[in-house]
Amino acid sequence: MPTIILRHVTKRYEGTRRAPEKDETNKGSETVEQVYALNDLSLLIRNGETLGILGPSGCGKTTLLKIIAGVLPPDSGEVFYDNVSLKDIPAGERGIGMVFQNYALYPHMEAWLNIGFYDVIHKQPEKIPERIEHIVKVMGVDLKHLLSRKPPTLSGGEQQRVAVARCLARDPKVFLFDEPLSSLDARLRVETRLQLHRLLRHYQITSVYVTHDQTEAMALAHRIAIMRDGKIEQIGTVQALYETPVSAFVAQFFGTPPMNLFEGWIMQDHWEGRSFDVSPIRPGLTSGQGVWLGIRPEHVEIVESGIAAKVDFVEPILTQQRQLVYLKIGSQSCIAAAGLEHSFEIGQTIHLHFPTERLYLFDKKTDARIG
Ligand code: ADP
Ligand code: MG
Repeated sequence: MPTIILRHVTKRYEGTRRAPEKDETNKGSETVEQVYALNDLSLLIRNGETLGILGPSGCGKTTLLKIIAGVLPPDSGEVFYDNVSLKDIPAGERGIGMVFQNYALYPHMEAWLNIGFYDVIHKQPEKIPERIEHIVKVMGVDLKHLLSRKPPTLSGGEQQRVAVARCLARDPKVFLFDEPLSSLDARLRVETRLQLHRLLRHYQITSVYVTHDQTEAMALAHRIAIMRDGKIEQIGTVQALYETPVSAFVAQFFGTPPMNLFEGWIMQDHWEGRSFDVSPIRPGLTSGQGVWLGIRPEHVEIVESGIAAKVDFVEPILTQQRQLVYLKIGSQSCIAAAGLEHSFEIGQTIHLHFPTERLYLFDKKTDARIG
């Protein structure tokens, strides 16, 4: 299984934007501008690992996957499989299996032929039954009753199963998934996630799993790369992303519910917010500097006297035997995770404590973590 390296990959699309209204000479006309889908992106995907790519819609995930697959050439930069440039590997020898959100099955072919298509074009159709037998075993699901049906007669979950089976039947060396579960309903998503997990661990093929759903990324990936505006913002294990986010963006994007952030400024040895202050904070920061103070909901403590907050609403999470308390501190929102033994009333004022060792500081200008 190859190690995949991307070096300084940039990809732009021609985007059309309407010219600003106030420009009299240009009124109503449209200007073409370059949209950066990937912006000087470098990345290493280790041999045999599943790398999750997590990011908001439009940040460039699909573009990145297409470039790794070699179906879209970068404007600049290069992709290497085991130190060989992808440009020098013929398409037929790349061994890439892709699974998309919308299945992309051949609608007029029965499921077995979709799965066995690779064997058919390689003139070895006798291999198909054995292959299907093997895939059924690894995925831990039964496909057999689906085999004689054509994709339009299959449910979303069944189509996705066939799509994954078809991908496996090509003996891929690299697996690329583009939000494969996003059009399934919640229950099927969980089931299919489990099947994919089994499969990824069985084959240990170098895999890239693109999603905007952090639960999926956490369940399936060895490491996760957080993408933002065509760049990788941070890459690491679940634990590392959770404990040491490099920016306010990662802190808010990773973790459910997201980290609470409060706007404020540095004043000598303390942080001064709009409704409350925190001291001491780490030394060496400049007075007047704009700083977001961050704390995760699970680290907010409910105490007898402290930061006053008003209860907006409460949401129980029974699997964790906790409740999420949505609060207002002045005009700013805050979420606290509390044990079920507490009871809250809407509109009630409670008091919070933010333990110093649980606080994060982010520079307001650059978004970077500074403490
Ligand atoms: P994601 O998969 O994370 O949602 P994409 O890679 O699809 O993001 O898109 C990244 C950016 O590039 C977006 O701004 C999108 O609108 C733009 N884009 C994607 N494909 C095209 C295209 N074929 N032509 C023009 N712009 C595109
Ligand atoms: Mg996409």
